[in-house]
Amino acid sequence: MAKEIPYKIYLEESEIPTRWYNVRADMKNKPAPLLNPATGKPCTLEDLEPVFCRELAKQELNDTDAWIDIPKEIVDFYKMYRPAPLVRAYCLEKELDTPAHIYYKFEGNNTSGSHKLNSAIAQAYYAKEQGLKGVTTETGAGQWGTALSMACSYFDLDCQVYMVKVSYEQKPFRREVMRTYGAKVTPSPSMETEVGRKINAEFPGTTGSLGCAISEAVEAATKQEGYRYVLGSVLSQVLLHQTVIGLETKAALDKYDVVPDIIIGCAGGGSNLGGLISPFAGEMVRGEKNYQIIAVEPMSCPSLTRGSYVYDFCDTGKVCPLAKMYTLGSGYIPAPNHAGGLRYHGMSSIVSQLYDDGYLEARSVKQTDVFEAAQKFARIEGILPAPESSHAIKVAIDEALKCKETGEAKNIVFGLTGTGYFDMVAYQKFNDGVMEDYCPSDEEIQASLANCPKV
Ligand SMILES: *Cc1c(COP(=O)(O)O)cnc(C)c1O
Repeated sequence: MAKEIPYKIYLEESEIPTRWYNVRADMKNKPAPLLNPATGKPCTLEDLEPVFCRELAKQELNDTDAWIDIPKEIVDFYKMYRPAPLVRAYCLEKELDTPAHIYYKFEGNNTSGSHKLNSAIAQAYYAKEQGLKGVTTETGAGQWGTALSMACSYFDLDCQVYMVKVSYEQKPFRREVMRTYGAKVTPSPSMETEVGRKINAEFPGTTGSLGCAISEAVEAATKQEGYRYVLGSVLSQVLLHQTVIGLETKAALDKYDVVPDIIIGCAGGGSNLGGLISPFAGEMVRGEKNYQIIAVEPMSCPSLTRGSYVYDFCDTGKVCPLAKMYTLGSGYIPAPNHAGGLRYHGMSSIVSQLYDDGYLEARSVKQTDVFEAAQKFARIEGILPAPESSHAIKVAIDEALKCKETGEAKNIVFGLTGTGYFDMVAYQKFNDGVMEDYCPSDEEIQASLANCPKV
């Protein structure tokens, strides 16, 4: 007889992963290499080292080792907030009256409120190990900056955060959390960097974008002795660290012999989605199993569903290496009424390649539908979800309702990446009924894509 499944499937502390899984090692078609923008040649360790920590640069280039040991110091930190629970959404199933079984992996159980801490602590560790003084970074909604400031304070590193101006102004409490952990927070574009001054001159009054903030943070890292730049998404190293999500999810499901039919994740830069699906995608690329994997993105920033698979700049200032990815063009900035996060113009090269090879599908959703799903979820499952995570909730509900029509008892697993306590301005818009949707025109996307480098 099948074991009864509890509301929450917890793993033991001893079951926290001690190795990250590098799906690139098993992929037949590897993601295309990063290119040095100056030479147009694949990046070497020497190219990356001035910007990234040595060990992280190595991880970025590693597409041969399937398993990478997690240093003990990082596993010890993980023990403060992991293993993360895998929750069976019994209440939601009942409300939807669906035969589907819905599970979500909840990554919001730490002060930063999202999965980003999984990579922040790894990146801070390697910076400390290398004897660096500090790191610089960008943050959009603020989750990454918060996670990194927590990680840096743990390892006693200086942390400088360039925060997208609109978020800096809309989310003063985010900023204060970061400052409480000792970070220096600067609104971007600022007048403190060359690239910031240039962007401010070219686009007066701009409220900033992730791409701009990345350029500023990279410049700040390269101009200060003993500093490196760290990034909270998109890069393969980040996706690698996030595989703790997928490995724990798989271990929890295995305990109860549950095999997922559908795995759903929201996709901004692709790190939580990539981390969640990696162990499952690994089985797919090795030809062992088959799953339906769905990436969910906002209609106003549809890199997978409407972007092109080409080499592009990772940042607006065009200082980072070039990555081949599904992109909307590095100058693409979602419409100002977009409130739901996931605003990055490109997508992880690993997720892009898996998508291009047909291992996953992508859907774009309207933000009003996303917030409706978020509200429903908050009322039924109790957790106030981050708008980003709610993209996955929306599609999980859609799929569960399809099961209701067909009578299929599918196992649906989705990533609940974080909580939405700092997103109340967006919730307020929704609650006041003034939230609007935006769908970019083909012309808008084509115009932005025209600025991709010719490689
Ligand atoms: C940053 C963030 C995301 C999106 O980033 P990915 O790299 O695509 O995972 C999703 N959810 C939350 C809560 C986030 O903070």
